[in-house]
Amino acid sequence: MNAVARDADAQPPPQALLPSAPQRPRLPLLPSLPLLPGVARLGVLGGGQLGRMFVHAAQVHGYRVTVLEPDAASPAGAAADAHLRAAYADSAALTELATGCAAVTTEFENVPAAALRTLAATCTVSPPADAVEVCQHRAREKAAFLAAGVPCAPHARVDSAQAAAAPTLAALLPGILKTASLGYDGKGQATVMTLAELPAAWAALGGVDCVLEQWLPLRLEISVIVARGADGDVVHLPVQQNLHRGGILAVTQVPAPDVPEATAALAVQLAQQLAQALAYVGVLCVEFFVLDDGSLVANEMAPRPHNSGHYSLDACDVSQFDLQLRTLVGLPLVAPRLHSPAVMLNLLGDLWFRGDASAPASAPAPAAASAPAPPAAPLTPLTPLTGLSPLTPDWPALLALPGVHLHLYGKAEARRGRKMGHLTVTAASAAQARAVALQAAELLGLPAF
Ligand code: ADP
Ligand code: MG
Repeated sequence: MNAVARDADAQPPPQALLPSAPQRPRLPLLPSLPLLPGVARLGVLGGGQLGRMFVHAAQVHGYRVTVLEPDAASPAGAAADAHLRAAYADSAALTELATGCAAVTTEFENVPAAALRTLAATCTVSPPADAVEVCQHRAREKAAFLAAGVPCAPHARVDSAQAAAAPTLAALLPGILKTASLGYDGKGQATVMTLAELPAAWAALGGVDCVLEQWLPLRLEISVIVARGADGDVVHLPVQQNLHRGGILAVTQVPAPDVPEATAALAVQLAQQLAQALAYVGVLCVEFFVLDDGSLVANEMAPRPHNSGHYSLDACDVSQFDLQLRTLVGLPLVAPRLHSPAVMLNLLGDLWFRGDASAPASAPAPAAASAPAPPAAPLTPLTPLTGLSPLTPDWPALLALPGVHLHLYGKAEARRGRKMGHLTVTAASAAQARAVALQAAELLGLPAF
């Protein structure tokens, strides 16, 4: 574990105030909420871009932030007041975080739940370890959906060769076999058309605990971000309409252009129901499918801010990271207001590798007629390319467009499929935001949407 840079005026750890009579056991003392801006130090487990944007929000409010992250070059570690370089389960690091910070949150769902429980013994922690543990496993997640009265895809657990050969699974085909844990951005998934394909598909995913889901006829995908305080107060961001390419979020539009009001209201209600059923404290994102018949099905949830909520930084008066902060420190929640329609485009590492397939990012968009056509889906495949010199996208041209907010996460190395940043276009009308976002996409060589 590396040493942590500490501020000279950092707060001392909270002192026990209980009488020290020998017969009375000394209870760990949790700091009382709210934890005031300009006074408290906060902690984050995880060093990715979500942690970085939480660090920014907390610092804007006057908090100091320590990030626990093993990677020396992490986006959140670079922004934090202090970077504790250790594994998430490192007990010395957890003790240091618990004693140095009044409250700790997480920026990704795969931190060991045990680490959150350890921290919760002596400092405020949100989201709760139990809820994070539910989100770490697709079967537990679906059970939680159903327990909360939230519809989800018909599914079955496939956790052995015997289970993978069960004839009853025919009812779920064609389907998608997904690893129960650690899948993200479409990784750890296989499409299965017939019963005969199942055992090989399961083996190809590593023979690990999986869930087979029925393939559903999707009209579109949406997500809802809710924030729930320790007092049960709940607020939400407007419903987001999401377009995925190659299993990765590509475009988010708010207001959701193709979602009827009643569907949006139902999605918000279901997400709130879920947060309440989980006794959730923090920011929770629920991804939904809108099926061809207009019905809603919950896909998965994330116990943290979500890529589809990044637009809130520039288009709302309270962002998803502000909400994460407020729920963590016990400050009041106010309903976020969308002050501008917005379109968010994800900036993947692929943009740095447009290479031979299209003109360099800085050249005028339509290249010479003799140039090879750009690939139809430049965001796949997701294998890193070596030997191509990375090209920096033409940021000045993008920033010359009105209402473009560029966010780069400070990642030194661009890799295909890696989230390097995003840009949000805000405008006076949804039509204008979309028109500018389409221009930005064209400049970047991204497909229209
Ligand atoms: P990840 O954890 O990688 O985001 P998801 O379960 O959200 O995995 O699946 C990624 C994408 O695959 C979804 O956004 C959706 O486009 C598609 N997908 C997932 N499950 C289904 C399903 N049951 N039916 C149809 N499409 C699906
Ligand atoms: Mg998903």
